[in-house]
Amino acid sequence: KEMIKIKDLKKKYGNLEVLKGISTVIKEGEVISIIGPSGSGKSTFLRCINRLEEPTSGEIIINNKNILERGADINKIREEIGMVFQHFNLYPHKTVLENITLGPIRLKKISKPKAEQLAMELLEKVGLADKRDAYPNKLSGGQKQRVAIARALAMNPKIILFDEPTSALDPEMIGEVLEVMRELAHAGMTMIVVTHEMGFAKNVANRVFFMDGGYILEDAKPAELFENP
Ligand code: ADP
Ligand code: ADP
Repeated sequence: KEMIKIKDLKKKYGNLEVLKGISTVIKEGEVISIIGPSGSGKSTFLRCINRLEEPTSGEIIINNKNILERGADINKIREEIGMVFQHFNLYPHKTVLENITLGPIRLKKISKPKAEQLAMELLEKVGLADKRDAYPNKLSGGQKQRVAIARALAMNPKIILFDEPTSALDPEMIGEVLEVMRELAHAGMTMIVVTHEMGFAKNVANRVFFMDGGYILEDAKPAELFENP
């Protein structure tokens, strides 16, 4: 089943054309790793997919819905397409539990006890049930990122976008975040991951996009990309 279909996507900032015409189809359950030099448009591409950025032209069809059409419900789009950022973006004045329950309570109108039950299940899953009442500044980077993943999952998304999720982490914490992502991938989540972690691209992703100069220059299976002489 086609989950994401993108046709000739372009994005300009003023005169700077950052995405110059991207077309691709991503199926349900696929895990895409995007690599490429700094400034090649990787982050902009991700941000267009959940409309954190407004594309200049092109089409983005998610689950058979054109998310760029006039009147598209941006909140609904962001519920269906979760995002995990390099710098976590947790609410600093909310506890771990509140960070996760806020979205379901406000946007999905789920009752507080139900949302808390869901949040606890997700915290178990990412190994942080004991941190429910902690504030983000008491957590390590790896723990913060696992909370951010749990928060994204709480909205029951169809897709999760990861923008350099391990780039701000101390080396010893990268593994624990990649492990949670690997489990998600195996559970069938559709994921697009901008990352410098070649291990993830090689061992978890089923396709690797190489971006440069605003284009996807290569779209390959990891084995093809990494086993070339
Ligand atoms: P990457 O993620 O591959 O490093 P980005 O998508 O972050 O690339 O950025 C691509 C280019 O677009 C860079 O030259 C960056 O400076 C520029 N850019 C990104 N966001 C903005 C913005 N909001 N306004 C102007 N230029 C931007
Ligand atoms: P990150 O790599 O963590 O996303 P960046 O420094 O690339 O951080 O970008 C941080 C924010 O600044 C983003 O919202 C991006 O769109 C914006 N940005 C990046 N480059 C520019 C630029 N040249 N002009 C204006 N805004 C930019």
